Amino acid sequence: MTKSQKEIILTMRWALCSYTQIAEKTGLSVGAIKSYCYRNGLNTASLKNSSGFCKNCGKPILNPSKTRPRKFCSDA
Ligand SMILES: [Zn+2]
Repeated sequence: MTKSQKEIILTMRWALCSYTQIAEKTGLSVGAIKSYCYRNGLNTASLKNSSGFCKNCGKPILNPSKTRPRKFCSDA
């Protein structure tokens, strides 16, 4: 998987595109995209529960504090 393919996956997952659509766009298998997304917090459930995306690395922000929305995926 190349860097540009990963960028396409990220961008399309943010837009909640299906794994099949991403597979067609990148030429990768649906299985490869699915496992990549699960490893990187880009599965559909995580995306729907996230409060936004990290301003630093672009990953979805999970389990956000309701009183203090986070801009980054870690408090570092
Ligand atoms: Zn981050």
